[in-house]
Amino acid sequence: MAKTKQFKTESKQLLELMTHSIYTHKEIFLRELISNASDAIDKRHFMALTDTDKAADYEIIIERDEDNRTLTIRDNGIGLTEEELINNLGTIAKSGTKEFKEKLKEAKDLEIIGQFGVGFYSSFMVADKVVVKTRSIDSDQGYKWVSKGTSRYTISEIDKDEVGTEITLHIRENDEENEENYDEFLKEFKIKNLVKKYSDYVRYPIKMEVTKYDTPEDEDKDPVEYKELETLNSMVPLWRKNKSEITDEEYAEFYKHQFNDYEDPMKVIHTKVEGLTQYTSLLFIPKKAPFDLYSDKYEKGLQLYSKGVFIMDKNKDLIPDYFRFVKGLVDSADLNLNISRETLQQDRLVKTIAKSVETKIKTELERMMKNDRETYNELYDIYGVNFKYGIYDGFGMNKEKLQDLVMFKTTKSDDYVSLKEYVNNMKDDQKVIYYASGKNKESILSLPQMDLIKEKDYEVLLFTDDIDQFMVNVMQKYDEYEFKSINQGDLDLIDKKEEKKLKKLNKEKEDFLNAISESLGGKVKEVVLSKRLKDSPVCLVSGEGISMEMEKVLKNLPSNNEAKATQILEINPNHELFTTLEQVYESDKDSMNKYAKILYNQALLIEGMPLDNPVEFSNLMVDLMVDANKKES
Ligand code: ADP
Repeated sequence: MAKTKQFKTESKQLLELMTHSIYTHKEIFLRELISNASDAIDKRHFMALTDTDKAADYEIIIERDEDNRTLTIRDNGIGLTEEELINNLGTIAKSGTKEFKEKLKEAKDLEIIGQFGVGFYSSFMVADKVVVKTRSIDSDQGYKWVSKGTSRYTISEIDKDEVGTEITLHIRENDEENEENYDEFLKEFKIKNLVKKYSDYVRYPIKMEVTKYDTPEDEDKDPVEYKELETLNSMVPLWRKNKSEITDEEYAEFYKHQFNDYEDPMKVIHTKVEGLTQYTSLLFIPKKAPFDLYSDKYEKGLQLYSKGVFIMDKNKDLIPDYFRFVKGLVDSADLNLNISRETLQQDRLVKTIAKSVETKIKTELERMMKNDRETYNELYDIYGVNFKYGIYDGFGMNKEKLQDLVMFKTTKSDDYVSLKEYVNNMKDDQKVIYYASGKNKESILSLPQMDLIKEKDYEVLLFTDDIDQFMVNVMQKYDEYEFKSINQGDLDLIDKKEEKKLKKLNKEKEDFLNAISESLGGKVKEVVLSKRLKDSPVCLVSGEGISMEMEKVLKNLPSNNEAKATQILEINPNHELFTTLEQVYESDKDSMNKYAKILYNQALLIEGMPLDNPVEFSNLMVDLMVDANKKES
């Protein structure tokens, strides 16, 4: 008795797309089915490592039947239970498929299907009926699953001798009107080609009966045709081939297939390491960051193989957090297939390989920065923030490794500048590396704190990521050069003579400055004469400890950290306003109070800090306008 069931909504939509798509890459269905078969065998193989009774001579068999228009793909992998049939073939299981659906929403381009791995459902691009016969390794009962790609499928019990899965596609009739040729998917030549093209490196033999000819000794006689079961794939994993024998297309095809991407990788790093520890690694940097790269759900890691035999997916010990976006695999003959996951983590060998992989990635990135800056810029835009977090993490443990990978835009350059480049471009009299936090170049350039820096023609790194400040706090120095925020601490901008003069002046004006400070009611730690201002009247800077930029960042964190920066109000002694204020201080203490408050609030606004009391500020401004008008009339 067959039970009829409905597909889940998402599946229906996808099936609809598959059955009605008019696009040109239908041929990928075979790749998808073979890949599923290979995965299923992997699972059985893995089980059999600890339970040898479950092992078998693994193979994938393809059968063509031109008369009945069927193509069958059979594997002796792990098989499916009834429940798994319902859950795995009745719903969209593949994460790539969900992503694919998202993509479809934004772009109506069906061409995209061809580049995606859409899994089992792709069968319906070439078949109008699909029959799955399967028996799980955990069950004596076989099941048959049948669907015509509409909203329903049926499931029934069958007898099946062998564990594994057999998928029969009833290939569609040719569609002359739309010039769609399905006959070709029944042809020996075509299937052989497709296997070579997409599945050559599959680890298990993919066998099919192929036509062979016996040439008779008597040359007058025709050759005799016969059939023979032949292995179509070379089974040599791509990474075990010589680099010189692999084309860019092959790398790209392998990457997309193995790592579920629909775009070619941005960068391929294929390395064979000989020596004490021998291994091969094939690494890829995706063109786009996975959508969940920065969520807890994202699992970094590399696949692990021993002599081409799969051991595990996503070994996270092989890749440091700051290179978490790198995908790929490591194959080492020295690894023991039977090691369990726990001991694997401890494995010294894995640690050694991880170290070497890390160095390799770093070297390649540095090389790319030097020789292919355009691509590196692109990469940096997407992944650069990982390097910054890497420096920040673990109290700067990895600073040396990563500091030459980070870059910044600067007040002088709209292109990224590395720290090395910055230091090389430093002015002769420049002693520190300057940076400024802000939304963008314009807002930073217009900060009062930039006055003297601009005059000196120093370059300033633009800190636009939240992490930048934290990173620099951990770094402290690059080479022998300290980092200095243009709005924190002493900037070393003026010479000794001027410094002395200013010190003297500060002393002279002490009472006045203290009076300003008092009228601000403890909001600022102190009021001082500025060493950094030239054209602007005032600015607000942070004292030691956390900066105002960090205060803003911390406030936005979920932890709701209320840490506050100490503020110092700096006044430009050479500005007209200073003289005015001083006069008011002598004549009208009350007005001086108001002016001080207004100035402080203005400085807050320039810094992008919230005003404590906007209403008071607004009232003060109004008073000022009214007063000014009174005096004039
Ligand atoms: P994916 O393979 O990416 O998960 P599919 O839609 O191709 O997506 O397959 C869905 C699920 O069906 C698989 O994850 C697997 O559990 C199961 N499956 C598909 N083909 C086979 C097969 N030949 N043998 C065993 N299980 C299979």
